[in-house]
Amino acid sequence: MQRDTAENKQRNTMLKVYNTLTRKKETFKPIKDREVSLYTCGPTVYNYAHIGNFRAYIFGDLLKRYLEYKGYKVNHVMNLTDVDDKTIAGSQKEGVKLGEFTERYSTYFFEDIKTLNIEPADTYPKATGHISGMAAIIKKLLKKGLAYRAADGIYYSISKFRGYGKLAQLEKTQLKAGARVLKDEYDKESAQDFALWKFWDKEDGEVFWETELGRGRPGWHIECSAMSTCYLGQPFDIHTGGIDLMFPHHENEIAQSEGAYGKKFVNYWMHCAHLIVDGKKMSKSLGNFYTLRDLLEKGYSPKAIRYLLLATHYRQQLNFTFEELKAATRTVEGLIDFKSRLAEPKPDIKSKGKPIEMVIKKHMSCFEKALDDDLNISEALAAIFELVREGNRLMAEEGLNRKEAGKIIRALERADKVLGILEEEKVNPEKEIEELVMRREDARKMKNWKEADRIRELLKQKNIILEDTKEGIRYRKPL
Ligand code: AMP
Ligand code: ZN
Repeated sequence: MQRDTAENKQRNTMLKVYNTLTRKKETFKPIKDREVSLYTCGPTVYNYAHIGNFRAYIFGDLLKRYLEYKGYKVNHVMNLTDVDDKTIAGSQKEGVKLGEFTERYSTYFFEDIKTLNIEPADTYPKATGHISGMAAIIKKLLKKGLAYRAADGIYYSISKFRGYGKLAQLEKTQLKAGARVLKDEYDKESAQDFALWKFWDKEDGEVFWETELGRGRPGWHIECSAMSTCYLGQPFDIHTGGIDLMFPHHENEIAQSEGAYGKKFVNYWMHCAHLIVDGKKMSKSLGNFYTLRDLLEKGYSPKAIRYLLLATHYRQQLNFTFEELKAATRTVEGLIDFKSRLAEPKPDIKSKGKPIEMVIKKHMSCFEKALDDDLNISEALAAIFELVREGNRLMAEEGLNRKEAGKIIRALERADKVLGILEEEKVNPEKEIEELVMRREDARKMKNWKEADRIRELLKQKNIILEDTKEGIRYRKPL
């Protein structure tokens, strides 16, 4: 029997999420009682991720943190795409091995998510670590007649899978069965048989695996079917990604996994809308992007960037402008300032007792109610700002004593478990410098001079001098 603790009450308020599969808000019911299995399509590690990508990961982070807030244990898996058309092209252009190339961008990705205070996933499987799992699914699909061999690869036959198009809600007339596409990415206008396995071609150079399927490499879509099932089973609870992944990537994941195993793949599909610039999706191909590092170099704080990416409802497009980023900076500064004023010594006045608790309860329950409604972050933030307004009024007019201020601080800290913008950064200055020096060394080893210079400059700003010695790099403060 469940005890009626505050924690259980919190969990028992119902969370509704918008399921792309049904185009409806649905009450969230996990497969297991207190656990949630969550899969997020992770980055293709061929470049720095841009802040559009981080919008998608911050949306996933908000979802995960709120599920945890409600008492669920979340098992979160995020894949790293470390072999595909783009990573192979990138490594060849630089003349480095694929593994070395993707390792570099994976490292940058992990640094960036740490900077943005995105909770790490429990597992970050790499596509190259799951080739045999992918081959096993492809063999099943061949056996079931859902896949076929062609001259350049093994393809999924979309006309053979009854449910093809159900996620993207494609019309039958949009399915060009029999027409084939080898490329990893293609548009909605051309739902075609897609490559599961690409036979080796001289353009792939040394990137290939010898499997029963023949010498080659996987197509992009099969990796998520293999990795999600490997770590989360089938079905699992929630699959997230940016809306551009709905078709063809997620449609193809469904066809692969449901086709191979004959059961439902995912219960809830959640997609976030794009970060746009001047009305267009921020993307590397359009060249209209900022990386996190671009914005940090311009002097914006990670907290302000996180706030900007978080504060618009995930299903609404977010138009990126520097004015909005400046406004986000002011908002975050205001919240931090409020919290530190609450922590300052307080007058020894009589407690107002219940009223403070009621104010907190009212706003925190609005906060939860809003997030329960498909993560309505704007309303949730409005509830927090109401609490701030009330707190400020009380501090100015009636005065708050230490205990009362402490209660507000704890409420803010509870909300911040979900928001992740107020936490003090626990920086260890010595360790931070050591890490920077190591990163500069890595950048130099990889002949990434631009990055090495950038880090030298950062260290200089921290008053650290680097010296190259026979024993390696040494660093010191000026004498
Ligand atoms: P990629 O590394 O291109 O596979 O993208 C990683 C994630 O970022 C995916 O979930 C994409 O849907 C998402 N994404 C890419 N561009 C944007 C954007 N402009 N706004 C929001 N999400 C994006
Ligand atoms: Zn994926």
